[in-house]
Amino acid sequence: MKQYPEWIQEFDGNLWLTENDRDNLKISYRLKEVVFSEQSPIQHVMIVDSHDFGRMLILDGVVQTTALDGHIYNEMITHVPISLHPNPKKVLIIGGGDCGAAREAAKYEELEQIDMVEIDELVVQACKEHLQEVSGNLSDPRVNFLFTDGLKFVAGKENEYDVIIVDSSDPVGPAEQLFSYDFYANIQKALKEDGIMVCQSQSPLFHQDVLGQTQRHIADLFRHSATYKAVVPTYPGGLWSFTIGSKVHPITPENVEVRPLNTKYFNQDILTSCFSLPEFMK
Ligand code: SAM
Repeated sequence: MKQYPEWIQEFDGNLWLTENDRDNLKISYRLKEVVFSEQSPIQHVMIVDSHDFGRMLILDGVVQTTALDGHIYNEMITHVPISLHPNPKKVLIIGGGDCGAAREAAKYEELEQIDMVEIDELVVQACKEHLQEVSGNLSDPRVNFLFTDGLKFVAGKENEYDVIIVDSSDPVGPAEQLFSYDFYANIQKALKEDGIMVCQSQSPLFHQDVLGQTQRHIADLFRHSATYKAVVPTYPGGLWSFTIGSKVHPITPENVEVRPLNTKYFNQDILTSCFSLPEFMK
């Protein structure tokens, strides 16, 4: 076997990827092959082809998105906030190196500019070449790729964006500060006066501390806030949370008419039902 990082093992003649979630839970996927494996200055970037989930993006051994269920996460983090904004023109995505969120945003003809600020150019290169089920090899001229730290990018920005989507990896390494109060305060300033933001707020089952803290930060900084959910099979526990903050527009999905945008998961019923939360998430 070639030299791979420790999360790839050979067992009974098969290659396996094992994601280690906080040392308490290990999730393994049987692989067909490792398609791409390189260390960037930021993290280890890997694309594998798996039996059940097809191609998968793995950063430092953690599954980020897959051909089978990537659309669920990317549609939910993108279409919910954009649908709730009555007149979106300029969108900022922080992270999102698999290009799935930018690809979904590009489905809105009324958007004039989509800035994507990703800290690691290698993630975008690898996904455009080897994970087109998610990236669609995105080449929309409205999408500007900016390869820098999202934290630094938003600091000092004022009144610029209608919608900001924080599509970050887990709160460790380069993404740790993307869950901080100061970062969300800068996002609040970078939004126009009626702007809307969303972030992924982790597993409501396994990362209750992160979800609770994110809900408190966003509620403190925005007039309206809410958490919504989706089931993404490759994330630990399956059930995943997103937290949205709006400066002016109330979060009233029942008043929004969803347009057909060639989505596989998101629709009118999903927009309203995703805000119905189980008791322990409220
Ligand atoms: N859907 C995924 C999930 O929840 O696991 C996250 C998707 S996306 C691949 C996350 C991206 O955030 C990665 O490509 C990573 O390089 C990027 N990222 C992490 N920290 C960042 C930072 N400080 N600024 C900009 N991008 C960052």
